[in-house]
Amino acid sequence: MEAITLKERTVLVTGASSGIGDHVARQLAAAGAQVVLGARRKDRVDALAAAIKAEGGSALALELDVTSEASTIAAYDAAEAVFGPVDSVVANAGINQGGTALDIPVEDFDAVYAVNVRGVFLTAREGARRMIKAGSSERGHGRIVVISSITADTVTPGIAAYSSSKAAVFKLSRLLAREWARKGINVNAVCPGYIKTELVGDYFDSEAGQRDVGRWIRKRLLDIGDLDQIILYLCSDLSRHVTGSAFTIDDGQSM
Ligand code: NDP
Repeated sequence: MEAITLKERTVLVTGASSGIGDHVARQLAAAGAQVVLGARRKDRVDALAAAIKAEGGSALALELDVTSEASTIAAYDAAEAVFGPVDSVVANAGINQGGTALDIPVEDFDAVYAVNVRGVFLTAREGARRMIKAGSSERGHGRIVVISSITADTVTPGIAAYSSSKAAVFKLSRLLAREWARKGINVNAVCPGYIKTELVGDYFDSEAGQRDVGRWIRKRLLDIGDLDQIILYLCSDLSRHVTGSAFTIDDGQSM
């Protein structure tokens, strides 16, 4: 059986300054990829790049705002200048703004969509344009992994903006997979269950959060490492026949 290796791959990870992005970037680098770390908090991605390099990996830290097309283009330009073309993308950057549909300020609603939908679209499209230019149609080596969420499908009051944005990117990943199938680019979504990161904060330590955990079949959060294998696989040559798929990794939380 082939092991997952990412040697000779250059992977751009958006939202690499914390949580899942930070963690998965380290795993991608450990598997041999050259990793490009994008986020608004440059000090954080600088520190992560230094940590990866100290372990013998290759990393480049970039300031990136995924809501901005100019910032996205600049990030791909900078990555190409150092590592050559990016052939794999983990579109992970995301935010949540809570609030019931009756109360959420429209600015908060728009902010969620700007990062979670427009940001994923811009990241994926610019990545695909570069992959096609670099020969993905012939080589079939383009990979785009969209981080959606189980909330794309579950129905939880108070997260209408977030939840519907995650449904949008789930759908977007299938549409992009179809449009780019003959261009040698595979697009897939990962739908994680709940993991303790800055995004969820201390919610699951609260009474309401504990009640939610108590309703799950296994009554536990995921560990941050639980997504490693699927994301590495989807970035690798091994997933050449996998496109337009969604992988729910949630320990049964959505059942
Ligand atoms: P974190 O809050 O820890 O990380 C979110 C990341 O997104 C940060 O690195 C942040 O960096 C980045 N980000 C936010 N806005 C922008 C922007 N405009 N431009 C670039 N980067 C941005 O949360 P998680 O690690 O939990 O979330 C990662 C992804 O996983 C998200 O898409 C989230 O929806 C999804 N997810 C998380 C789950 C969970 O339970 N934690 C469950 C299911 C899905 P910075 O602020 O420095 O820009």
